[in-house]
Amino acid sequence: MQTTIKKAISFEGIGIHTGTYSKMIVNPAPENNGIVFSSNGDSIPASIDYVYDTVHGVNLKHNNIEIKSCEHILSTLYGMGITNAIIELKEGKEIPAMDGSGKAFVESIEIEKQASAKKVFKPTEPIFITSKDSAILLSPAEELKISFVAEYNYPGFTPQYKSLVISPEVYLNEIAPSRTYTFTGWVEKLKKQGLIQGGSMENALIMDENGALNGLRFPDEPVRHKMLDIIGDIALAGVSLKCWIFGIKSGHSLNCELARRLKCTLT
Ligand SMILES: [Zn+2]
Repeated sequence: MQTTIKKAISFEGIGIHTGTYSKMIVNPAPENNGIVFSSNGDSIPASIDYVYDTVHGVNLKHNNIEIKSCEHILSTLYGMGITNAIIELKEGKEIPAMDGSGKAFVESIEIEKQASAKKVFKPTEPIFITSKDSAILLSPAEELKISFVAEYNYPGFTPQYKSLVISPEVYLNEIAPSRTYTFTGWVEKLKKQGLIQGGSMENALIMDENGALNGLRFPDEPVRHKMLDIIGDIALAGVSLKCWIFGIKSGHSLNCELARRLKCTLT
């Protein structure tokens, strides 16, 4: 069945990349609305068609508005099985980072069932896409299963692998609390690129060659966050998927390529 949220929920805080204050209200929406962003009277459907940037986040642009870093709230809604909602940015252009995970979002969401059937897509053919040393394999399946390998050529980081069949309960407990992350050796370069202007120990897991500087919520928190990200990115295909997605070191750019392929298969 389709679902929305029981009541509007408000979130505020700084955006991780812009470093500026944002206020967002997630509102219930009627059946068949889908997930739509709105700001200043204009709106953007949460669709791969409106993605214009995937560098360390997913940014959408359409009409006169742009929405930056939409992947974590989209992941949360998708992971919790919410099919209809209006995400309204009252202030700012970026989704508030909160603690860098989906925790604050999932803790506030109350699910409201709706009468209509959900749009479910069960791919029948495998898809295999690659970019440099990253890859995604999609295989037909009876449920949504995500497997992921995270690996970095960074001293002290041991490759991580995780595989989960995604249900709202699994998402809530195993995926949502995992924070975005970076390595101390990357911070200066990212800041010079104009990214992570609002990044801090409060909204990201920071690691150096000896491990986490601000504690771990799971021993394999980074790979779980990569799963959170890919769920947010495939949400841009606009349907509930039944398939097995195996990501190997993939990031937003390749994840969005998969969403684009899936959307093309649909239409
Ligand atoms: Zn992320």
